[in-house]
Amino acid sequence: MTYSYTQISQYLTCPRRYRHRYLDGWKEKDTRAAMLFGRAFERALGALFRREDPGAILFSEWSACQGEDLQYSKGDSWDSMLRQGIMLLDRFCQDDRIDVARPRQNLQIKFNRPIAVRNDFVAYVDGIGTLDGTHCLLEWKTSSNRYPEEPDGLLALDPQLVCYSWITGIAEVAQIVFVRKRLVEVQYLRTTITDRQREEFGSLVEDTIQRIESAQFLPHSGIRFPQNPCSSCPYVGLCLGNPGIAEGRLVRRPGADSLDWIDELNY
Ligand code: SF4
Repeated sequence: MTYSYTQISQYLTCPRRYRHRYLDGWKEKDTRAAMLFGRAFERALGALFRREDPGAILFSEWSACQGEDLQYSKGDSWDSMLRQGIMLLDRFCQDDRIDVARPRQNLQIKFNRPIAVRNDFVAYVDGIGTLDGTHCLLEWKTSSNRYPEEPDGLLALDPQLVCYSWITGIAEVAQIVFVRKRLVEVQYLRTTITDRQREEFGSLVEDTIQRIESAQFLPHSGIRFPQNPCSSCPYVGLCLGNPGIAEGRLVRRPGADSLDWIDELNY
């Protein structure tokens, strides 16, 4: 079986959520504008490093989503997001702090690592290059809010960066955050992941896979009044036995058993 960071992180968020997603085949609908914009923007960044026209790529990729029934966050629209994207690309070029040599090999790189005898772990790293001349692993993020930088060293606790450091063996990691706001901003955040963090992450992966393989899928979302994580979970309709909510937010993988659970719920 092949595992990914997303699978491990979904299980650790809530094992029941993992079961809904990976065993029962339910998936969140791809209608979130911010997520689709992030994908389009990353393709534009790839074009920038390949010395193609990033603005044209952003426009064509984002235009492909225009007709879809997208869910925008408050204050966002298709036009405003395009404008912000173009301004962010300009700002990134002016800053000139990142370099990626041989972008066709060093962007969206696939890494694979065997886990025990039967499993492996796969990750796609956004890039490997330099930030202000320091060789490091690069991860792009688009966000409508700045990422927190306090307390000092916080970035080193980012589990996705630890995961990428573990699978690549690269200690220096950077997160480049493209902040979509009225005055756009690019944050260049860099940290070092230690050997110990990489070892611990490897143990966490093995432990999580063992729990998945022994079919431990009890719900434990860390419910804590008044912040109930279930309220923002896309699978809440399944856990509540409410087909209306579930069908509004989820689609089922082709081939997964047809809507048998809805029939059960309707009794
Ligand atoms: S709704 Fe709550 S219990 Fe159900 S999968 Fe989501 S987080 Fe887990």
